[in-house]
Amino acid sequence: MEWIDLSIPLKAGMPTYPGDTPFELKPLLRIADGKVCNLSALQMGTHTGTHVDPPWHFVEEGVRVDELPLDLLIGKAYVVSIRGAPAVTADALAAAGVPEDAERLLIQTDNSFSAWDKPHFQPDFVYLAPDAAEWVVHRGIRLVGTDYLSVEQFRAPQPLTHRTLLGAGVIVVEGLNLRALEPGWVRFICLPLRIEGGDGAPARAVARKMA
Ligand SMILES: [Zn+2]
Repeated sequence: MEWIDLSIPLKAGMPTYPGDTPFELKPLLRIADGKVCNLSALQMGTHTGTHVDPPWHFVEEGVRVDELPLDLLIGKAYVVSIRGAPAVTADALAAAGVPEDAERLLIQTDNSFSAWDKPHFQPDFVYLAPDAAEWVVHRGIRLVGTDYLSVEQFRAPQPLTHRTLLGAGVIVVEGLNLRALEPGWVRFICLPLRIEGGDGAPARAVARKMA
């Protein structure tokens, strides 16, 4: 079984959440210009592309991104596919056959098949409804992975989904591309950059189907 890269390529012009700092890679030195090496500077938001939301993103007493346990960021995850719906609801999750012992849940939606192909931010992306967030918490899931730039409905009047998940200490991974996955168990690795005291961090995320 091969490892599948679930991360979004970081590049200039990539879609970012409205108001976020656009990604920019600034060349500082280039061998082609007679310099001794190639060297660049990065500018980006902490929630750019594939990234992790630690509880402190929405909960003042919550842990920061560098305090997240590696044991939760690496391990067995269950993949569900919920297609053709504008939102992932508790009913859809209840019908998806998530095993009782699932601690990590990756939710593939239509986002993985269309939103990432578009260069601009898609405000009508599929989101996790607040009742689905409550379902996740009640089921004892500790990490949830979603496939666009926010787990929350765009312009939701209150950030209920974030508050429910992060308030319960559930790690949220956003901005995954889950197109290549099928429902079932995978090995999952998601390592956010160790930004001290960070409210979020870009991550490389990979999965491999379990035999
Ligand atoms: Zn985020």
